Amino acid sequence: MTDEEARALNDDILSCTRCRLSLGRTHAVPGEGPVPARILLVGEAPGESEDRSGRPFAGRAGAILNRLLASIGLSRNEVFITSILKCRPPKNRDPKGDEIASCKPYLDRQIALLRPCIIVPMGRFSAAVIMGQFGVAAGRISEIHGQPFRAEAPHGPVILFPVYHPAVVTHNPPLRGDLEEDFRRLKEILESISPA
Ligand code: SF4
Repeated sequence: MTDEEARALNDDILSCTRCRLSLGRTHAVPGEGPVPARILLVGEAPGESEDRSGRPFAGRAGAILNRLLASIGLSRNEVFITSILKCRPPKNRDPKGDEIASCKPYLDRQIALLRPCIIVPMGRFSAAVIMGQFGVAAGRISEIHGQPFRAEAPHGPVILFPVYHPAVVTHNPPLRGDLEEDFRRLKEILESISPA
């Protein structure tokens, strides 16, 4: 991937008016991280903090994500973080099918340019979209989190590794341990595909 390609993709997202979410946004949020990226983390959609700042996972869930990454020896600048939708749905409602259809080509372009080894869908919504895209039959996030699924991306083999969304800790504190365990397993998988 060239810097020009990365910039062009970001510019396309920042100026996008393909769906109704462009009308209410402050900023589109393309995502950020190294290019290419070994690990691609994908959330659902920007929230209030992300819409305001233009940065992914900028609020409370982002602070939790930073701690989870630090717990396995990773910093944010070692992973690429984005979301299925690049603009905030009103009042953080669930994304609609036509919004996903409009926005999904940007994620596809990001995957093609970043060429990740591991894609980590965060939360039920992202997991459903990404597992579906790769034709991997998967159940509910409560059943599939913390498990690797092998898939074939256009750039080669990829591991899909769904985890709970970091915000689950604020909505459902008992799931904190499951989320931490998901990240411990992510570390094991990273070590297994690239031994220290
Ligand atoms: S959500 Fe995606 S498709 Fe809709 S306006 Fe934003 S960038 Fe464009």
